[in-house]
Amino acid sequence: MDERAFYTESPTTKPASLNCPYCHAQESYDLRWMVRKKKDRLPGGADEPDRAKFAKAQSYMVLLDDKVACKNLRCRKRFDISGVKTMAFI
Ligand SMILES: [Zn+2]
Repeated sequence: MDERAFYTESPTTKPASLNCPYCHAQESYDLRWMVRKKKDRLPGGADEPDRAKFAKAQSYMVLLDDKVACKNLRCRKRFDISGVKTMAFI
């Protein structure tokens, strides 16, 4: 069974404060995350290994964005997101 079947997915955005490496402006960016919330019960058709995996599964979210465009209008360069955890348990 695909582990995705254990979760209900919903997109969300969360603000993060990032520094542009080109112009060094610090701005708040709304980063896109995918929330994977563990379902209340195991979906039908699960076998024993699925049950064990489901028992250990936790709700979490993963960062979808890996780059942002600088908000400084004189810069506007795209830069890699760093210093932000790309995965978090919730
Ligand atoms: Zn910049």
